[in-house]
Amino acid sequence: MRNIKFFDTTLRDGEQSAGVNLNLQEKLEIARQLERLRVDIIEAGFPASSKGDFAAVKQIAETVRTCSVTGLSRSVRSDIDAAWEALKGGAEPRLHLFIATSPIHMVHKLRMTPEQVIEAAVEAVKYAKRFFPIVQWSAEDACRSERPFLAKIVAEVIKAGASVINIPDTVGYITPKEYGEIFLYLQNNVPNIEKVSLSAHCHDDLGMAVVNSLAAIEHGATQVECTINGIGERAGNAALEEIAVALHIRKDYYQVETRLNLQEIKRTSNLVSKLTGVVVPPNKAVVGKNAFAHESGIHQDGVLKEKTTYEIISPELVGVPSNSMVLGKHSGRHALRNRVEELGYTLSEEEINQLFVRFKELADKKKDITDDDLVALIFEEKFDHFNEFYQLSSIQVQYGTNQIPTAVVVLKDGKGNEIQEAATGAGSVEALYNTLERCFQTAVTLLDYRIESVGGGRDALAQVFVKVRVNDVETSGRGTAQDVLEASAKAYIHAMNRAVMIEAMRGENEKVATT
Ligand SMILES: [Zn+2]
Repeated sequence: MRNIKFFDTTLRDGEQSAGVNLNLQEKLEIARQLERLRVDIIEAGFPASSKGDFAAVKQIAETVRTCSVTGLSRSVRSDIDAAWEALKGGAEPRLHLFIATSPIHMVHKLRMTPEQVIEAAVEAVKYAKRFFPIVQWSAEDACRSERPFLAKIVAEVIKAGASVINIPDTVGYITPKEYGEIFLYLQNNVPNIEKVSLSAHCHDDLGMAVVNSLAAIEHGATQVECTINGIGERAGNAALEEIAVALHIRKDYYQVETRLNLQEIKRTSNLVSKLTGVVVPPNKAVVGKNAFAHESGIHQDGVLKEKTTYEIISPELVGVPSNSMVLGKHSGRHALRNRVEELGYTLSEEEINQLFVRFKELADKKKDITDDDLVALIFEEKFDHFNEFYQLSSIQVQYGTNQIPTAVVVLKDGKGNEIQEAATGAGSVEALYNTLERCFQTAVTLLDYRIESVGGGRDALAQVFVKVRVNDVETSGRGTAQDVLEASAKAYIHAMNRAVMIEAMRGENEKVATT
């Protein structure tokens, strides 16, 4: 059976989703989880695009040992140099070079003739080969490129040393049949094609990213590029979990193998959703909340008698836990640490100690601490307080049906100042947010506000997600607390802290970002 490689680009293409910006800590956690999922290649970022991306790619390359780590690069030496600096500590450094090959892109974006594009591509591959053992070359907007030209440039970059050729459907335009034909065309018209592996990269603008990727596999591709939960530019990329499970369940048809550990799918999906703030729709294939829920009486009856009557994927296959472990007031530090490890999180001794304190506090108020509660606490401990400028000291909110809601907030800022403000609003959350805005002394536009409970029950934790715009930075934040107002305040402060960090990094970025 052919082996299909999974190239995960959650941290590069996925991170390009509107409103998603992950910090170093969060990217590292996702990379570790992708390693557990056993993807073959992790695209960790675009090193030349910003200092933040550079640092993240470097750290991921140095941390991940059992996957190849790659970074994106334009066909210019300064990008390749930056990528090598970031990736050289990796277990198997690999460069992802690209240049546009469609007439639209060559004329309007690159302002280069087709001959100049070939020259630049060849020159970049040759230069990259001085450093990188593996160079992957991508023809940006390949699907709207002229096939003879595509075949010509592919032959040239293979001669120059590329070992993987990626054919991206950058704008999400192709249909499965046409996409398959492009792969066949290249295999029939590029003389040295057997020297390389072919890769698919699809976008979901027409809802065909997954099916196009599968069509590519049927027509000779041995690598697929995808993201967890299908996040990415515009309508997103092909969803890794959907391709992976389709190949597994229909192995009889596709006749291919992968090295993925499918049981890590659900956990990876949850982690990416929580850290990016991008919700997984309940009806989403494989990872949606309802993906395994049988609602119709006839279906329920059938499944109870024999699961396979209506269930083609078992929840256990993708790691949906059948029973959630419960910790309580009397659980000790040891039990907590074991559970945290079983849930797949890596915490330092100090983080475990902090978590234990939070856990005990919660256990005093809430009888059963479920895995979901624990994950919420881990997030608070591990990610939400990372690099924070503003810290919440206290809030007080007054609300009554016959009075004007009023909030008082005390914050500490990164310079050690204590800030205290008060304001009113039409509702208690608005009063709180008006007060916080005064504390920040910056206009903040609230784009989205979402509240959910962690699990069921009256004593459940509240989790608030917000999306905000601060100046021209769009970012998200989350907060967890037993009280909805406290969770709301934390989410807003978390978003503001991210905005502060993005703005601080931006100043340093300008030099490297433009070419
Ligand atoms: Zn893409």
